[in-house]
Amino acid sequence: MVADRLIKAGETIIVERPLAIHPALIPEFSDHPQGRWGLLEDAYEASFQCLGEREQSLLLDLWNCKPLSGTLGNRLSGIARTNGLQSVFTRSKHLPHYAGVYPNISRCNHSCGPNAAATRFDDEKMAMTLAARRSISPGEEITISYTELDGPHAARQDELKTKYLFTCECKHCKPTKPSRPKRLSNTLIGTFPTKLSLPVSVST
Ligand SMILES: [Zn+2]
Repeated sequence: MVADRLIKAGETIIVERPLAIHPALIPEFSDHPQGRWGLLEDAYEASFQCLGEREQSLLLDLWNCKPLSGTLGNRLSGIARTNGLQSVFTRSKHLPHYAGVYPNISRCNHSCGPNAAATRFDDEKMAMTLAARRSISPGEEITISYTELDGPHAARQDELKTKYLFTCECKHCKPTKPSRPKRLSNTLIGTFPTKLSLPVSVST
């Protein structure tokens, strides 16, 4: 996702409702032969039919880094586990933590120095806000973090490798090198996986 204009720090970039959402804590039901993931797959397969054709297409278009078994439920569950963003129902005392999959926000790539964050979930409106953490220039990719940012670099890399199967090579993960003469220096280009870049129509 790429900014199509200057976005100021703190500004709302997009507000959108999830395509799908599931509890962050999934109990291990002993009566399901495939355990907790089988349970999630069944739930996603059943609920998928309730979505419109466009929403189904948007959901299936998202990146999936989880193992594939070939069933629709497995694919949908993998997409949800790859792209789910923490969505907290603050008014729920018993089960407040969910993972929501969003049509545009979930397409944002990771950076260890992200320029945006999707942390404001309004459980009354069932909508997530993506907001700028700093000023974002036109043409700049809008990024979020898939991990906690205050941990050490090694812990971040471990989490990204385990959960999302990639090694982050953003500019914040590059080792600091001694300065070279100007003619020898190169521009560092992040090579983390690109999901899909879409221009953003910004509305507040
Ligand atoms: Zn990084």
